[in-house]
Amino acid sequence: MVRKAYVDKEICIGCSLCNTICPEVFLESKQNSEYGGDFKSDTVNTVNHEEVTDKVDDAIQQCPVQCISWRDESSGGETKLTTKKATQKHGEPNH
Ligand code: SF4
Repeated sequence: MVRKAYVDKEICIGCSLCNTICPEVFLESKQNSEYGGDFKSDTVNTVNHEEVTDKVDDAIQQCPVQCISWRDESSGGETKLTTKKATQKHGEPNH
């Protein structure tokens, strides 16, 4: 299975926190005409996202609207993956 980070642009509020945490994978937010000119982030497709798994997981956890997820690329990116880390609530201890 090849995992790839995915930003749900319907939900993204364009805060660029993911880009601050993991610029290797997440682009700085910019205006997107497909979404009425709202600021949206996106992912870089020229790098292996799994090489920076920890940083992507941090971005998933810290995204204020929880719109980042891992997807299974081998299924055409349609399968959303959930990880224990990704479903943890802020402030809960890491087990
Ligand atoms: S942290 Fe979340 S809401 Fe903020 S730009 Fe990234 S994907 Fe969008």
